[in-house]
Amino acid sequence: MLEVTSVSAGYGALTVLNDISLKVGDGEAVALVGANGAGKTTLVRTICGLLRARSGRIVKNGTDVTSTPPHDLSQHGLAVVLENRRLFGELSVRENLVLAETVGRKVRRGNMRFAWDEVTALFPVVKERLDSPVELLSGGQQQMVAIARALLLQPDLLIMDEPSTGLAPKVVKDILLVIKALRERGMGLLLIEQNVGIAAEITDRAYVMAVGSIVHEVGPGEWQSFLKDERLIRAYLG
Ligand code: ATP
Repeated sequence: MLEVTSVSAGYGALTVLNDISLKVGDGEAVALVGANGAGKTTLVRTICGLLRARSGRIVKNGTDVTSTPPHDLSQHGLAVVLENRRLFGELSVRENLVLAETVGRKVRRGNMRFAWDEVTALFPVVKERLDSPVELLSGGQQQMVAIARALLLQPDLLIMDEPSTGLAPKVVKDILLVIKALRERGMGLLLIEQNVGIAAEITDRAYVMAVGSIVHEVGPGEWQSFLKDERLIRAYLG
């Protein structure tokens, strides 16, 4: 369970997040949607310790992780795929993955949730390119490496910031299939997504953000009525 309670954060004099509270239960898939500049990425950066929360608490499985640096989050079962992926471009795909696998082994101490072979089998394209430098891969392939790397950290909750942005429709489809397979295995998901159609396809419910606040919640079973509500869509998603 991830619990974000009354979190505020920003950059210098600018306050971007105002009193944000949300929860993602074990094995639950929750979306965070909102227009450009709503503060979604700022919230992800705050949850994963790249930005300091000015107030509020972030708790994972009962442990306060509010001030936990990004490299320690895997100890709490959290892995994040950021929008810019943050891979080591000059290193090979294998080297990028081995680094994560080494950390994941320490986290799970032999009781691995995702074995190397399973993870690479999820992404046949990645498996074919294990010895290529990451920087030579296409954007879609790099996204797959980023997801594979996150899985090797052995998380029970994956946070993904706009995994479909800028990718070809075929690649998006492949990535969505992988996310659905992970869901079937009980993986928790916090999906940051501008495309509400995609969010509705793979999550149970959603928080809608506008100007740094949660302004609406889409409950379980409410996705279809939300998508048909032109007034809400126009007001919050532009
Ligand atoms: P997008 O979908 O475009 O990524 P978003 O909902 O993720 O939008 P953020 O990127 O979190 O929104 O941006 C929220 C606000 O914070 C915007 O007004 C943006 O200009 C501002 N902002 C983001 N990053 C910084 C930064 N490094 N320094 C100062 N302001 C920033």
